[in-house]
Amino acid sequence: MGAAQSRIRVGVIGAGGRMGSTVCQAVEDDPDLELVAAVDPHYRGIDLRTATGVDSGITIRADTESLAGHGAQVAVDFTEHDAGSRNLSILAEAGIHAVVGTTGFTEEDIERFRSEFTRSNAVIAPNFAIGAVLMMKFAEMAAPYFDSAEIIELHHDKKVDAPSGTAMLTVERMAGASGEWTEDPTRDEILTGARGGEGPAGIRVHSVRLRGLVAHQEVLLGTTGQTLSIRHDSIDRTSFMPGVLLAVKSVADTPGVTIGLDALLGL
Ligand code: NAP
Repeated sequence: MGAAQSRIRVGVIGAGGRMGSTVCQAVEDDPDLELVAAVDPHYRGIDLRTATGVDSGITIRADTESLAGHGAQVAVDFTEHDAGSRNLSILAEAGIHAVVGTTGFTEEDIERFRSEFTRSNAVIAPNFAIGAVLMMKFAEMAAPYFDSAEIIELHHDKKVDAPSGTAMLTVERMAGASGEWTEDPTRDEILTGARGGEGPAGIRVHSVRLRGLVAHQEVLLGTTGQTLSIRHDSIDRTSFMPGVLLAVKSVADTPGVTIGLDALLGL
């Protein structure tokens, strides 16, 4: 690629948000991509540069439907569950490929997306950071060799869903790799919720929300006389961008709905 006419035309939804604005900058900086539209109802009618500092000459629109009019081939969505869910249906209907970082989708949501994306494809990844993808892979590999496991995920103080999509995907994959985990010994929970949420196969998930953090997760595994800790830290939102750009460039050639980055990374 490289020639202006062959650049992939990209729209960003949630463009005024923490992740959306970082994606706008990453797309703008990539010579193979062209940022053609930005959507965010909160910033409607405002110049993208004023809202985010990304100097592209684009005015932010309120509605996802406007992406088709701007010739977007791929749309990147970093919003929240309800908005993301609606946006994906609109993109599928319009035949626009979707790269989705929004978290909080249920199994039912994913099934619906699978039935809706018939004319275009979607890559939905709860974590676009390569280190986090590897953390999930390592946790899945380690699961059969340990007897107990707990996950602690830690995020910034504005995150609205809990537990994180990364924690949910990690626990699902660990439960898929091993169903043999020791029983929770707790008989008397003095403070409700002290033992966290019970995920698949009874694996406990704990969510920490703290100002100053970005996105972090620790997977703790234990067996006789030893423990293993697998930890990943995103200390800056740019950590997610190589994965987002890889998905934007690959989604047209990745049929249907793909969950996670593993397949795109050859893992
Ligand atoms: P944020 O700063 O709140 O950004 C979300 C943006 O989406 C806000 O500007 C919001 O506007 C906008 N929005 C809401 N409804 C919309 C709609 N219908 N159409 C278009 N835009 C809409 O949140 P964030 O920290 O960027 O996170 C966004 C999502 O990405 C979350 O689900 C988070 O968990 C996820 N995330 C994923 C990854 C990953 O690697 N996959 C990494 C980090 C975060 P308002 O302010 O008006 O609501």
